[in-house]
Amino acid sequence: CGIFGIVYADRPRRNLGEVLRKALERLEYRGYDSAGIAVVDRGLVVRKDAGKVAEVAARYGFDSIQGVAGLAHTRWATHGKPDQANAHPHTDCRGVIAVVHNGIVENYAELREELAARGHVFRSETDTEVIAHLVEEYKRQGLDTFAAFKKALSRVRGAYAVALIDAENPKAIYFARNLSPLIIGVGDGFNIVASDIPTVLDHTRRVIAVRDGEYGYITPHQVYIEADGVPQDASSRVEEIPWS
Ligand code: GLU
Repeated sequence: CGIFGIVYADRPRRNLGEVLRKALERLEYRGYDSAGIAVVDRGLVVRKDAGKVAEVAARYGFDSIQGVAGLAHTRWATHGKPDQANAHPHTDCRGVIAVVHNGIVENYAELREELAARGHVFRSETDTEVIAHLVEEYKRQGLDTFAAFKKALSRVRGAYAVALIDAENPKAIYFARNLSPLIIGVGDGFNIVASDIPTVLDHTRRVIAVRDGEYGYITPHQVYIEADGVPQDASSRVEEIPWS
């Protein structure tokens, strides 16, 4: 029910896991049954489970995890019971792609069948997991991560706010919005995607509201937004949230 992602410019952040844990605490008020994080350091690290943020974070030592980019998610289960396997982030077969998602993939059953027939092995009962495998499939067919992400989105019907990282291309977080909230926090040497403004305000007061149908990626120094294949002027849309 809540998403957060952050990508940093320089060396791995020693406190990335702590940053993600604090973002999860900010997102708690939205309601949830499970929590998890994915971090890119040398490879992809995923830690997740059903339960309270404080419990899950303590059990898996979130505060001692470092990395250059990370995702965090609080889940409100719609497809698959609240348990460890169904908690987000979800990964592809090779364990290099991680995705967090709010909303529902309405056509997940047919996508899952199609991907299973191509050899993809699923580890959860969620609708969300098809997104990781779709991106993996299109990468395998030769597309770069962003092209594969866009093609995956074109296959997905339903409501979503999505954020995705790829350990093979770790200086970016890919995002998309359709009928679920998503904003970008514009930082100095980092950028953020998140479900709401309070979660971003710990880091920056400059935000961009992502509109329905938009998708793109953030890197430490760039915000790229596209809609229907057309690049959008992200910099003209930065709003400064006043101190309250
Ligand atoms: N439909 C997804 C699931 O059940 C996402 C739920 C959410 O928005 O937290 O895992």
